Amino acid sequence: MNQPAPDSTYIGRFAPSPTGPLHIGSLLTAVASYADAKAHGGQWLVRMEDLDPPREMAGAADRILETLQHFGLHWDGDVLYQSRRQARYQSTVQQLLDQGLAYYCTCSRAQIQARSGSNTYPGTCRGCSIPPLKPHAIRLQVKDADIHFEDALQGPLHCNLQQQGGDFVIQRKDHLYAYHLAVVLDDADQGITHIVRGSDLLESTFAHWHLQTVLSLPHPHYAHLPVIVNADGQKLSKQTHAEPIPLAAPAPYLMYCLQTLGQQPPATLNGASAHSILQWACEHWQLERVPPARYLPQQQIR
Ligand code: GLU
Ligand code: ZN
Repeated sequence: MNQPAPDSTYIGRFAPSPTGPLHIGSLLTAVASYADAKAHGGQWLVRMEDLDPPREMAGAADRILETLQHFGLHWDGDVLYQSRRQARYQSTVQQLLDQGLAYYCTCSRAQIQARSGSNTYPGTCRGCSIPPLKPHAIRLQVKDADIHFEDALQGPLHCNLQQQGGDFVIQRKDHLYAYHLAVVLDDADQGITHIVRGSDLLESTFAHWHLQTVLSLPHPHYAHLPVIVNADGQKLSKQTHAEPIPLAAPAPYLMYCLQTLGQQPPATLNGASAHSILQWACEHWQLERVPPARYLPQQQIR
């Protein structure tokens, strides 16, 4: 068990979606990605994933940033907003279409279910290279081969995308760009070397890995953290009525995050300033101590 070696090339990030204020689950991801970056002597960037306006909540983006500041989680550089990156996403979709790697798809969910008996897309519209008049999504072809990667917390993982999910959507029928596409381009353009995020995104990583390969982009290092679930086993979110983090007293929330992350902060830090708690976290951070579970039940915060 060692503190990480200094790595001035390390660039990490926290990438919240402004669908609601930060809750304890998203704060945990922020704290872990921040401590891992700073313990390496690296940079920690914040990217606002405001890609899906219908799911967003007015004011949430500013409130998230305000909470991060209040909790001493100060980011490096400027916040990147996905809503300002449409041209980049558009040109990549066009490039993939031109290369014959992506195609137009008019299938509905019900049709996919009826044809494959599952949610795995059976490739029905492969080869459709002329935009149909009907509403259509754009899908990226995947291969019938295993993708392997080593997750720093969850260990070695593999998946055959063709058998699990099939060709995936990179631009939706409502014209919005898919999360998979945006996250891969943004991570590459921001020079992200290490991704520390919730294990609810573990399966998505295979799609990201495939896109990185197809676009000749580097594969970052991944560490997928346990996700905090409520008493009903659901991920905390606006939909499951997760409580927003209050700004007033950061200490118990930060201590809770560090304890849940297996870092064993000393009791002398109870009631300390956010700055002191985070400083301790960065000086003592050990990723190996984070429980490798995919889900952890929420405990009382005091
Ligand atoms: N915006 C995503 C979320 O809030 C996280 C994306 C990522 O970390 O790759 O769930
Ligand atoms: Zn189709």
